[in-house]
Amino acid sequence: MMESGMTWGQVLAEGQERLKNAGVAEYSLDAWYLFEHAFGISRMQYFMCSAQKAEPEEASWREFEDGIARRAQREPLQHILGTQEFMGLEFYVNRHTLIPRQDTETLVETVLGNHKEKEIKLLDMCTGSGCIAVSLTAHGGYAHVEAADISKEALRVAEKNAEKLLSGRQLIPASESANVEKDPAAATGREMIRFRHSDMFSAFYETEDRFDIIVSNPPYIPSDVIEELEPEVRDFEPRSALDGTADGLFFYELLARECGRFLKENGAVYFEIGHDQGEAVKQLLDAQGFIDTRVIKDLAGNDRVVCGRWQNIHCLV
Ligand code: GLN
Repeated sequence: MMESGMTWGQVLAEGQERLKNAGVAEYSLDAWYLFEHAFGISRMQYFMCSAQKAEPEEASWREFEDGIARRAQREPLQHILGTQEFMGLEFYVNRHTLIPRQDTETLVETVLGNHKEKEIKLLDMCTGSGCIAVSLTAHGGYAHVEAADISKEALRVAEKNAEKLLSGRQLIPASESANVEKDPAAATGREMIRFRHSDMFSAFYETEDRFDIIVSNPPYIPSDVIEELEPEVRDFEPRSALDGTADGLFFYELLARECGRFLKENGAVYFEIGHDQGEAVKQLLDAQGFIDTRVIKDLAGNDRVVCGRWQNIHCLV
């Protein structure tokens, strides 16, 4: 418990100690972020004032206390601060979506590196926070990006991120966007992406929905493994965003089976995968007739993305 008469240095040290005792691995850094956020004190200011008596506003005290208490309960730092950086953009996050992971940047960077043309149509299936769809739109400048999720709450987060991060960018709005509102003030960044509430492809029609690229970072953790994860993930991130059923492959089987119906000739798929799922997912794509299937590694050297190309040719014979 923080007491009056403490110096700023003691306030921070006390917070760090509480997080350390709660088993938080990055206790020092996490306490610092909560401190900086609550008191609005930069690193530079801190070095000059750490020995001074702390006399913050009552509301800031409470915010710091509350932040430390929540983090000590192992709530993720990102949920407390409400943000996570991804592809150089600051995404809003809450408990309804998976927190964007650095691993997923490999997927986005692979697509950006392979597809320089702008007039193409992309789909991000299982968009969650929208981190993939929004960063592809922001960095790739693609004209037609769609994003789907089974969770309405997740779609609200993704829409908010599109609005926050794409507004004011010089992009071509997705032409048939279902989300464009008549109010021009509301139709800004959100207009750049067409959001769809859909259980996988259930709200898609193969006669109208044909994409050049389908990307997905679906839930892929085997159900049993979830119990062994850190409490931050196991108890606070949405189970529906993590659980890939018993073998973790459920969504890849579905994607491998269904994507061909929604791809243009020569369209491509890019899926994020768990480090030990590369071969299995590649085989699923091979079995469905995808060509040029490949497993791509992340910066840590782990298998992280599987991609492949679709040719309709085998449907004609
Ligand atoms: N596409 C989102 C992300 O990469 C959500 C993924 C998920 O919920 N499995 O963060």
